[in-house]
Amino acid sequence: MNDHSPISTGCANSPVLKQRGQREVFCGLTGIIWLHRKMQDAFFLVVGSRTCAHLLQSAAGVMIFAEPRFGTAILEEKDLAGLADAHTELDREVARLLSRRPDIKQLFLVGSCPSEVIKLDLARAAERMTQEYAPNVRVLNFSGSGIETTFTQGEDACLASMVPVLPKTDERELLLVGALPDVVEDQAVSLLTEMGVGPIRTLPASRAADQYGIGENTVFALLQPFLGDTHAELERRGARHIPAPFPFGEQGTTAWLRAIALEFGVDEETFERVTAAPRARARKAIDAQAKELRGKSIFFFPDSQLEVPLARFLTTECGMTPLEIGTPYLHAGLVGPDLALIPEGPTISEGQDVDLQLDRAREARADITVCGLGLANPLEAEGLTTKWAIELVFTPVHFYEQAGDLAGLFSRPIRRREVLDL
Ligand code: SF4
Repeated sequence: MNDHSPISTGCANSPVLKQRGQREVFCGLTGIIWLHRKMQDAFFLVVGSRTCAHLLQSAAGVMIFAEPRFGTAILEEKDLAGLADAHTELDREVARLLSRRPDIKQLFLVGSCPSEVIKLDLARAAERMTQEYAPNVRVLNFSGSGIETTFTQGEDACLASMVPVLPKTDERELLLVGALPDVVEDQAVSLLTEMGVGPIRTLPASRAADQYGIGENTVFALLQPFLGDTHAELERRGARHIPAPFPFGEQGTTAWLRAIALEFGVDEETFERVTAAPRARARKAIDAQAKELRGKSIFFFPDSQLEVPLARFLTTECGMTPLEIGTPYLHAGLVGPDLALIPEGPTISEGQDVDLQLDRAREARADITVCGLGLANPLEAEGLTTKWAIELVFTPVHFYEQAGDLAGLFSRPIRRREVLDL
């Protein structure tokens, strides 16, 4: 065979429109809403203002727990004016919390815009408290500040803060990285276990006691595309990333599993035996939704950082045409495999200048526009069909069994619009 046709690299080498301007995004505190559900003995203490407390309360207010796993230490005006020793007050607040709540094993001090403005050194505070409360409580810190972040960066910062304190191990193990609902994580673990892959660890683990080590024989697979800092921290500890498309839809999940299977030497027959039935179920579920999506166009504003893998899913599995794929950050080491599967054509943009992008979206008039809450209502008023990006993070959408639901998140607004237009 003498075929000199170039191998398609899809959008992997497409020019990237880089934008820096006003942005419309939620801050990283939002991640606490799903992280606190996952880590059952952790507490997230936001060191912030009443605005931060309101954000958390309104985003999570519908969830009632006997004992909440997050709270806000409010910085009052005198703190902000530098009139009080915020460290002393924080120490007092933490002492009160931990004496009341012996169930807390991991305490995260979460920085915010106000704590950054007054340059409160939470890393130092966390170190001091770790010494004071060891071995019962581990105190870490990360920033959820909204000044220069997008909302999924909160999870990245949180997980990245956990990596340096993991003990060292030489054990060969697979680490799955990203906070997914337990039922979805269990599906992934059970598929891999059936193939004979293991031992499998997860970051974050449900409990601090589920400790494991990390080292040069650790290989890791990312469950979310927004974990760039965590990826860097893991590599710094010697762990090796298994690059793959993200596990969305049937093809994404199969490619993700296959990359791990190859790493662990799983033979093709075993791979087929384990994946054949759930693959068929996923394909059928996607097809039922894709009828409404085929041939339709889509425009992504940068928001959740899921944009590239989702565009890959909607293009290759649902027959949609992406017009612009905007993402807050384009980390080629993470989303490169997905980009390579998207046929050339869409504008790939990184960062945001919201007014310019709104102009492009108005001109494109895609069949569906994925954007943040703040942009959705005005665009709907202009007759565009929208999808809130934040819903994609709060809904279980990974792996085979959720593939139909993921397609449904996009087909439903299109169907609703078609009914309204009749
Ligand atoms: S943007 Fe800043 S001030 Fe507002 S809720 Fe987030 S951390 Fe708090």
